[in-house]
Amino acid sequence: MGATKKDTDRHLGRRGLLIGGAAAALGTAALARDELARLWGRLPGPRTPRVEGAVDFRGALWTAASSGNFRWAQRPDDYRIDRVIIHVTQGSYQSAVRVFKDPSHQAAAHYIVRKDGRITQMIRELDVAFHAGNRSYNERSVGIEHEGFVDRPQDLTDAMYAASARLTAGICARYGIPVDRRHVIGHVEVPGTDHTDPGPHWDWKRYMKLVREAKRDADHSKAEL
Ligand SMILES: [Zn+2]
Repeated sequence: MGATKKDTDRHLGRRGLLIGGAAAALGTAALARDELARLWGRLPGPRTPRVEGAVDFRGALWTAASSGNFRWAQRPDDYRIDRVIIHVTQGSYQSAVRVFKDPSHQAAAHYIVRKDGRITQMIRELDVAFHAGNRSYNERSVGIEHEGFVDRPQDLTDAMYAASARLTAGICARYGIPVDRRHVIGHVEVPGTDHTDPGPHWDWKRYMKLVREAKRDADHSKAEL
């Protein structure tokens, strides 16, 4: 009986080692798989650490969206950015911030521009925000919300147009996006969308003129450096 027990112990011991080895090998495979998944954006967490509070547009206020409303990415390395998409919130600034922080909302834009011209950034341009309702357009674009309602032209203020135009000009400069209506578009123009924003009162002619002017100013000051 004694000998049998010893044998059992020895077997258990060897099995333990084997299990340990298999688990270690599995651990390495799981790590590699996690790394791949992170590269492909399927796991939470950025590939490179984000600095809390860092913004892509100087002067923007930072408040983070819920990670349920965007996908970590490494743009423009993994996805080329070639569109700016213009939205109107259909609600107040506060309600937009609230829903962008709500993980169940499943949508958020990179920026919100208020009626007084203040700009809030909630998602880094590195990351893919869920704002266009179209995967490939999300991956290739930066989304800008504007506080207001599509049927209230008075919501679209001078200060808002001016601030938004500077923001869009900066995005176009950063990624080499042409300042034209093929590359600066409304949510309504995204293929497959049922959204109508920014609506009939959004003055595209005026906006694009402001963006071109802001882009010229940005290019000019860059040339002077
Ligand atoms: Zn929209």
